[in-house]
Amino acid sequence: MTTELEKLLESARAHLYPNYRQPELVMSHGQGVYVWDTSGKRYLDMYAGIAVNVLGHAHPSIASALHEQASKLGHMSNYFYNQPNIELAERLCRLTGMQRVLFGNSGTEANEAMLKLARHHFYSAGQPDRYRIIAFANSFHGRTLGALALTGQDKYREGFGPLPGVTHVPFGDLEAVERAMGPDVAGIIVETVQGEGGVLPAPQGFLEGLRRITEQHGALLLVDEIQTGVGRTGRFLGIHHYPTVKPDALSMAKALAGGVPIGAMLCSEKLAGALPPGSHGSTFGGNPLASKVALAVLDELEKQDLVQRSASVGAYLGERLEALGRYKAVSGARGQGLLRALELSETVDARTVVTDLREAGVLVTVAGGRALRFSPPLIITREQVDEGVAIVENVVGKLS
Ligand SMILES: *Cc1c(COP(=O)(O)O)cnc(C)c1O
Repeated sequence: MTTELEKLLESARAHLYPNYRQPELVMSHGQGVYVWDTSGKRYLDMYAGIAVNVLGHAHPSIASALHEQASKLGHMSNYFYNQPNIELAERLCRLTGMQRVLFGNSGTEANEAMLKLARHHFYSAGQPDRYRIIAFANSFHGRTLGALALTGQDKYREGFGPLPGVTHVPFGDLEAVERAMGPDVAGIIVETVQGEGGVLPAPQGFLEGLRRITEQHGALLLVDEIQTGVGRTGRFLGIHHYPTVKPDALSMAKALAGGVPIGAMLCSEKLAGALPPGSHGSTFGGNPLASKVALAVLDELEKQDLVQRSASVGAYLGERLEALGRYKAVSGARGQGLLRALELSETVDARTVVTDLREAGVLVTVAGGRALRFSPPLIITREQVDEGVAIVENVVGKLS
């Protein structure tokens, strides 16, 4: 007799495009930091849908924002203004220090917009040959061809043909950046913490150096805050840890609407004319539904002081992970706020550990090949951190 689960798995294997590596289970529902699969097994979610579900699962503010807005006005396209979108733009400008917002539906799209902004800015200024971008080895900026050209990891790029217009230099190496600069460089794009690359924070002085170099050359500094934004690192933006560095543009997505698709490219007023009407756009971008949910997420962030909690509970998670360094299977811990990595020893297969952890009831992801990445909901408590770390300790302890 085939069970309901077996039927679903069979259908998934037959119909879904097989570009992912899902395990043999189906997720059913969630509540706070926990999710359940269809068999009733409970998991502590310490990855939050890749740094997305900042309010955890099934948060009532998100549910009611969705319900209210869907019952009122769900979609109109950008032929017209809509109120939640105007309010969100104003709110984001205030929170980030930027002056203009262009909305899309994902991180990749936000980076595409930023790339087009940089190129078109110089085109409009009579410098059409100034389109090269400098990006960093080990970076991740998305998977469409434009965003993929920025992404500095061969495993994502291989097989997709030439991805021109971008020079990759080692992350943290300001001399290499200087050498790669030229009159054809439109901008430099950087993550304040390389997320997919393995949770690698920018070395001291690096972002300040990039700001200085871009200013010297009249190029733009573009910051990818898709993973680091919305409180993940203990400040609203990753770049807020560097108060002297003001980017020309930045991209946000992932956590911005707590799980409802949204992306945003923000820039300074001097770039407000770079993409004139007709030069870029999106059917869904800035729709009232996603905008209303983003406003609800930002409200909760403020009400529960979640950015500060990300800093304090994140520091606690960091301490707990560092203490696991006494096991042979662990080679170190690093991170910022509630974006953390536990680096495993060379002899350990990180993917197997993720599977073992899932079976033991904790969800994490692999980043940078050898690190377990922790990016839990920002509502996670110290007790829940303890609960998760105890399970991690048990699993890595057995490997040691
Ligand atoms: C996830 C991510 C992206 C891509 O976002 P999508 O929503 O998957 O398109 C880009 N940059 C960074 C830093 C990311 O973490």
